[in-house]
This record gives sequence, structure tokens and C-alpha cells, in this order.
Amino acid sequence: MTSTTGTVCPHCGWPDGAEPFQVMSTHTTAAGGTVWTRCACGSLQVRVVDDRGSRVVSRSGPSPARSGPAAL
Ligand SMILES: [Zn+2]
Repeated sequence: MTSTTGTVCPHCGWPDGAEPFQVMSTHTTAAGGTVWTRCACGSLQVRVVDDRGSRVVSRSGPSPARSGPAAL
């Protein structure tokens, strides 16, 4: 259950194929681009965009503010 291709967010169920909850930044690369997005649950996602579309290649856990006192 650790695959991140064609799945949903394991923390809140947001579909990877849906419109990102929030786009943090985009970076153009020779192969296409990289998009950093934040999920509705606070999880940061790194998406690679190429001629086949976009896919999540890495994601963090949900926002720590939900699971403990805000230290920052
Ligand atoms: Zn999520």
C-alpha cells in the first residue's frame, strides 16, 4: 500500500488525479516539470509532469498541527 501511482492520498483520500488542493510552486525541467502541491490534509506532494501527464512521486505526512501542539 505504499505505491503512489494512480492512488489517493493515504491521509485524507484526496485523489492524486484530481485538481491539487493547493499548488505551492512549479519548476520547469528538461523533461517537463516538477510541481509541489499541498493536500487538503497538509501533506506536501511532489509531482512530476511529463508528456504522459502528472504523477505524485513523493509525499510527506499530514500537517503536524493535526496530531500535536503547534511548535512553530
Ligand atoms: Zn491528503
